[in-house]
Amino acid sequence: MTLVLAGILGLVVGSFLNVVIWRVPRGESVVKPPSACPRCGHRLHAWENIPVLSWLWLRGKCSRCRKPIAARYPVIELVTAIAVVLVVLRFGVTWATLGYVYLACVAVALVMIDLDVKRLPDKIVMPTYLVVIAALFAESLSDGQFGSFWRALAGGAILFVFYFLALVLYPGGMGFGDVKLAGVLGLALAWIGWGALAIGAFGAFLLGGVYSIVLLLTRRAGRKSGIPFGPWMIAGAAIGIAVGEQIWDQYLALLA
Ligand SMILES: [Zn+2]
Repeated sequence: MTLVLAGILGLVVGSFLNVVIWRVPRGESVVKPPSACPRCGHRLHAWENIPVLSWLWLRGKCSRCRKPIAARYPVIELVTAIAVVLVVLRFGVTWATLGYVYLACVAVALVMIDLDVKRLPDKIVMPTYLVVIAALFAESLSDGQFGSFWRALAGGAILFVFYFLALVLYPGGMGFGDVKLAGVLGLALAWIGWGALAIGAFGAFLLGGVYSIVLLLTRRAGRKSGIPFGPWMIAGAAIGIAVGEQIWDQYLALLA
């Protein structure tokens, strides 16, 4: 039952994220005006705005001009729903879950915006610090254990400084948006444990590095064509949050 509710919540949030992904990089309001067909300006009726179902019902076409509606809209709604369900499966129903659900939804928007326009807008990243810190603090208050909370703050600072140094030492490799995102991901990873933080951070560079090499080998990108790094940071963090501690323990066992 909880998972069904989580899935529905994810679909609804995913629908809103489609608006965020389109409008925030363009500096437009996410509340007004209501959603409309970008081609003919047709205002969507409530029944045309139901996540996934409306797109299927309309067979991927605007009800007035019949121009195609991109499949990425229902895909983003589905991916958000899956992300929210996975977070609830991972953390149960706790205060911390609120922070991780918020972060997962923000992450979907950031991946798409970074792929679209190679930016990670402050308007989306900065409030995430507040939400994640508040949720983790509430979690610590509820059980009186503050160890994970202080570790989260330290991890956020460590990953922020690490990316800041990378930005200073290798300018052009990434942007300051990546540095600010690193701080939030560091918080979320280190709350789970140092192993999660290490695997999450390493995973980003491993995945991003492999992808860059593949692009270079297939000559689809020059050395300087600036691949957005945000999606790899988020993919690494997702792995770190899901299984980082287990991977880290096995790695230490291998060393010993
Ligand atoms: Zn239309």
